[in-house]
Amino acid sequence: MEEMLLLKYGEIALKGLNKKSFEDVLVKNIKRRLRHIGSFEYTRAQSTLYIKPQGDEDIDVVLAKLTKVFGVTKICRAIICKKDFSDIVKCSLPYLKDTLDGAKTFKVEAKRADKSFCMTSPELQRELGAKILDEYSHLEVDVHEPQVTVTVEIREENAFVHAYKTDGAGGLPVGTSGRALLLLSGGIDSPVAGYMMAKRGVIVDAVHFEAPPYTSERARLKVEELAKIMSEYTGAVNFHCVPFTRIQEMIKEHCPEELFTIVMRRIMMEISQRIALSVGASCLVTGESIGQVASQTMLAMVCTDAVCKIPVFRPLIGMDKTEIVEVSRKIGTYDTSIEPYEDCCTVFTPRHPKTKPRLEEVEKAQAAFDFEPLINQAINDTKAYIISAN
Ligand code: ATP
Ligand code: MG
Repeated sequence: MEEMLLLKYGEIALKGLNKKSFEDVLVKNIKRRLRHIGSFEYTRAQSTLYIKPQGDEDIDVVLAKLTKVFGVTKICRAIICKKDFSDIVKCSLPYLKDTLDGAKTFKVEAKRADKSFCMTSPELQRELGAKILDEYSHLEVDVHEPQVTVTVEIREENAFVHAYKTDGAGGLPVGTSGRALLLLSGGIDSPVAGYMMAKRGVIVDAVHFEAPPYTSERARLKVEELAKIMSEYTGAVNFHCVPFTRIQEMIKEHCPEELFTIVMRRIMMEISQRIALSVGASCLVTGESIGQVASQTMLAMVCTDAVCKIPVFRPLIGMDKTEIVEVSRKIGTYDTSIEPYEDCCTVFTPRHPKTKPRLEEVEKAQAAFDFEPLINQAINDTKAYIISAN
C-alpha cells in the first residue's frame, strides 16, 4: 500500500499574483521540516501540494510534522492506486475502513485531471459509491451533508483516493511577513505570543533576560526548552540571552521600589530594540495582556513604550488567561511553562508596584543612575545561538 499526502492551502490561495511567492516559501519550509525524515516528491496543482514519500517513510511521523507548518488548512492522507477502476476499488475499500466504520452517511466526489480516463466523474461517483455500499451496508448516501466525503482523483500518472482529513496549522508561511524579536520569558504567555506571530507568517527571533545567580542555569534551560517547542511551529529560533544581573541590582539600589518593575521593563525594551535593529527585526513582541499584572496596565505600557522607537506587538493583549492557557496546551508549551523556576522579573518584585505610573516620574526615577554603560555592556555580553527542534 502506497500512501501520499495532500496539503490544502489556506489564505495563500487568495493571494492573487503573489500566490506563487507565498507558495515557494511554504514549500521551502516544508522541505526543511521533512529533510531529516526521508525523501519526498513534491507536486503543486490547484492550491494543493502533493507530497509523495519515495521510500518507507513513516506517514504518521510526516503528518505530525506537517500539522505544525503554517500556511496549510487541511491535510488529507490518500492511497495511491493504478488508473484502473477495479484497482481503485480493490485498494480503497480496505483503506477507508476505519473512516467509514465510524460514519453513517457518505458521498463520493470524483475529480479528473486526466480527462481521457475511461469513466466520467458522475460515472466514477456512482460506481465507486455502489461498491462502497456493497461492502459497508450500514452506510447511506447523502450528497448534501455527508459525514464522510470520499474523494477519488484521477491524475496523469495514477489515481488516488482519500477520505481522511486532519486540520493543518492555518495561517501564513513563516517568512512571508518579516522578522520580529520576541521577549521570551519562562512563563505561559510569551511562547504563545511567539506562536501567534509566526502563525501570521512572521519569523520569530527571541531575546531572554537572565539574572544569575538570582536565576539558575535550570531556569535558562527551561526557556531554551520553550524556544525549542515553539520552533516546531516557528522554525529555528535565533536566541539571544542577555545577562541582566548588574542592571537589576542598580535599579534596586537607585530607583524607588514601587517603580522597579517599570524601569526594569523599559530597560529590557531598550536592550531588545537595539538587538532587534542589529539582527534586522522590525518590531518587538511580548506576551502581555492588558490588566493581567501591575506592569501590564495601560499606563504602565505607556511608560514602557515611551522608550521604543519600533512597534511593540502584543498579540495576547485582549485574551483572558484561560484562553492563553488553552493555546499553550495545544502547542505543547504549557507543561514546561509551569515548571517552577525563578524568572529575573520575579527576583526583585516590589511589594506594592505602582499600577498607574506617570511617565515623568518614571523617567525621573530612571535618570537617577546612568544605565547606558551597563546597557552597552549587557549587549556586548549577550550570547546568541540557534535553537531548533527540527
Ligand atoms: P509570561 O508568562 O510570558 O512570562 P507574565 O504574565 O509572567 O508573562 P511578565 O513577567 O510581566 O508577565 O512579563 C511580561 C512580558 O515581558 C512577557 O510576556 C515577556 O514577553 C516579557 N518578559 C518577561 N520576563 C522576561 C525575561 N526574563 N526575558 C525576556 N522577556 C521577558
Ligand atoms: Mg513572566
